[in-house]
Amino acid sequence: MSATQKPQVLAATPLLEARALTKHYVVGSRLSRSGKKLVRAVDGVDLQLMTGETFGLVGESGCGKSTLARCLVRLQSITSGSLMFEGRDITSLSTRALRPLRPRLQMVFQDPYASLNPRRRVGNLIADPLRVHTRLSSVQIRARVAELADLVGLSLEQMERYPHEFSGGQRQRVGIARALALSPRIIVADEPVSALDVSVQAQIINLFADLQEKLDLSYVFIAHDLSVIRQVSTRAAVMYLGAIVEIAPTATLYASPAHPYTRALISAVPAPSVNRANRQREILEGDPPDPASPPTGCRFHPRCFKAEARCGSERPLLRQIAPERSVACHFPLIEAAAGS
Ligand code: ADP
Ligand code: MG
Repeated sequence: MSATQKPQVLAATPLLEARALTKHYVVGSRLSRSGKKLVRAVDGVDLQLMTGETFGLVGESGCGKSTLARCLVRLQSITSGSLMFEGRDITSLSTRALRPLRPRLQMVFQDPYASLNPRRRVGNLIADPLRVHTRLSSVQIRARVAELADLVGLSLEQMERYPHEFSGGQRQRVGIARALALSPRIIVADEPVSALDVSVQAQIINLFADLQEKLDLSYVFIAHDLSVIRQVSTRAAVMYLGAIVEIAPTATLYASPAHPYTRALISAVPAPSVNRANRQREILEGDPPDPASPPTGCRFHPRCFKAEARCGSERPLLRQIAPERSVACHFPLIEAAAGS
């Protein structure tokens, strides 16, 4: 990115920045039949979250979105690369050193039910982070829980109930209230609407938008469905097998994808108003390969309709093709703008 193109972006420090962030898991054991193997769940991701923005992250299941999400809030250790929060390197901070930062980096999960103890009242579940991280009195905690319930659209009466008495959408509101309890700066939302019906999805997406405005939040919003990302985020990255293959403003990504994988994801979005026979579809066949033994060259080449010999041998780097647009492809679907 040249200084003449984007001086305002260069001047602002990203709120959160990953540089060549990598997370490898060692699975299996020396004694098992298949031996030890290295799962390259996240393999060299660069991304920047700016203050007040919603950055979308999209990709098929298994491409490393959740692993990246947990690394971004340091719920997980990072194998290599770096992570900067408010300009400070937090890559290898110990659990103890992270503690004061915990309240500021929060996560919302796909299935809040899994993380909500079924035997405790919802009001207590929302109060938990306050009990652990603050010295508020029980009266103050009760007041804060009431405030949080109101923020996420739940009633005080509902605070006395148990998680199983809630619908999926309401449970997600509880998950969001818990994440908000300590007044975070960043929320990494890992597929927060994937398990919900479409009408409920819209309500939760609206809630995220309202909260962002009221509370000055910045989001990393993850989905496997591009149509969701399109509704929530201004910029988005497409992930494939642990790596970002394209970053662009969401509208651009949708209107003219540069990476064949992005185009395939778009054509996978159901569009009932469009005559199926007339739709251009690059159907994604099969599943992504095993990240323990990724293909050589471009990791997408075995499934790519544009692949040529070079794609099997040379891994394309993420390169800028236009202002705010980068793609990792030898043969992108749109040509690089002159001069970039
Ligand atoms: P996504 O959220 O995009 O579905 P994940 O981050 O959950 O992707 O998984 C990426 C890859 O890492 C998958 O191959 C998954 O099996 C593997 N993986 C995730 N968590 C672990 C773990 N704790 N140990 C070993 N492998 C893992
Ligand atoms: Mg996931």
